[in-house]
Formats: sequence, structure tokens, C-alpha cells
Amino acid sequence: MHKCEQLYEGKAKKVFLTENPDVLIVSYKDDATAFNGLKKGMIVGKGAINNRMTNLLFQKIEEAGVPTHYIQELNDRETAVSRVEIVPLEVIVRNVAAGSFSKKLGIEEGTELAEPTIEFSYKNDELGDPLINSYFAKALNLATSNEIETIKKYAFMVNDILKVEFLKAGLRLIDFKIEFGRFHGKIILADEVSPDTCRLWDVESGDKMDKDRFRRDLGNVEEAYIEVARRLGLEIEKE
Ligand code: UDP
Repeated sequence: MHKCEQLYEGKAKKVFLTENPDVLIVSYKDDATAFNGLKKGMIVGKGAINNRMTNLLFQKIEEAGVPTHYIQELNDRETAVSRVEIVPLEVIVRNVAAGSFSKKLGIEEGTELAEPTIEFSYKNDELGDPLINSYFAKALNLATSNEIETIKKYAFMVNDILKVEFLKAGLRLIDFKIEFGRFHGKIILADEVSPDTCRLWDVESGDKMDKDRFRRDLGNVEEAYIEVARRLGLEIEKE
């Protein structure tokens, strides 16, 4: 498997074609952005951590019955994945109030929710990823009813799997964002699961161990990413 021409460069990854039309290679960058690209920076070593963590967790998710785009880790930063057509929805699952949810609803960060919630944002940078509901998604032809039902089912399954995996690592899964794609007509999990896309708080101290350290200028950003990776059992050298 080798990289052919670059298909796309996003905020956190580059994507390359391969000789197989069903396979892409993603290459994770250290670049960090927040607030729809307004805040820019770099988290040294993040690309390798997010790549390896995503691959580890996608394999666990797959074993638990949710199909994913993961094929094979090629090196620290690069992975072969199934080429999907991304469903333009950011799917957010929450266990505990934080971030925009806390602000919008006036609920203190850290408040445990009575049950997990799900929400959809329309993936559109120009519009700032507006919050929509499943009726909007259908009305805009972003996904069919069947696809939305599958996405909801898989998203809560992913939550159950990740909650357990992170708890074993002494981390509380507050909320996370995932994306799905279509592969030969089937919905599968795509994109990533990492401290860029999850809120993870230390079980004992409550310390934030995720991208909020970058968003909110809390310091020790690299250290937090490394600590999360190590607790999941990955061997990470500080770059
Ligand atoms: N999130 C993400 N990408 C986005 C927006 C949110 O990965 O473009 C993740 C974020 O890291 C958090 C969860 O989704 O784990 C919920 O984020 P929220 O809606 O609270 O938005 P925020 O307060 O981060 O803007």
C-alpha cells in the first residue's frame, strides 16, 4: 500500500489516494485549531497520539459490533482506511454537561445527565457547524431515516464501549464527537476518536485531559495527550 496523490487537507489530517480505489491513507498532523478555526496552534506529538489512539479504540469498537473504516496502521502518523462518503453530520454524544451544552442550557459543567444525549450538527465550516435535528437532516438530504436510525444506534454503542475503555484508564468520558460514512451502501464509523474529539476528565482529580487544555489555555497540553495515550497502554516517547 502506498500514497498516491493528495485528495484533501483538513485542519488535523491529510488524506491521500492509494492504488486501491476503496482505500485511502490518512496522515495525522500536529496542527490544532479551535472555535471553527479562529484559534490556531500546534500540539507537538498530537498527530502520532491521535492516530494510534484512534486505531486502538476503533479496533475495540469493531470487536464490539460497530463497523469502522480502520484497515491498517502504517506508521506512527499514517493509517489505511476504507474510502467512505462522509455523512455531513457531526454526531455528539454527552454523558455529563460541558462546553456549549452547559452554556446554552445554563447547566454547570460536570453535572451528570440523567441519560446520555445525542445531537447533530450540520458539517459546514462557513455556517459554523449549526445544530440541527434529524428532521432537518432528512429534509436537507444529508441522510435517510434508516441511516439516521443506524447512526443513533451506533453512536450510543460507541459511547458504551468508550466509557468502559476510558474508565479502565482512570478517565471519565464527558462527551465526544464522531462522524460516519457510507461504504458500499452501509454506514460505518469514520474520522477519529482522540483527545481532540472527546472530553476526558481524570476520575480522581477531575483534571481536564483533552483539547479543552488548548481551547482554554490551561497549559500542559502535550503532557495531557501523552498521559491519556499511556494510560490506554500505548508507548509514547515525548518528541
Ligand atoms: N467537538 C469536536 N469538534 C467540533 C465540535 C465539538 O470534536 O467541531 C467535540 C468536543 O471536543 C467535545 C464534544 O464534541 O468533546 C462536544 O462539544 P461542544 O458541543 O460542547 O462544543 P465546544 O464547547 O467544544 O465548542
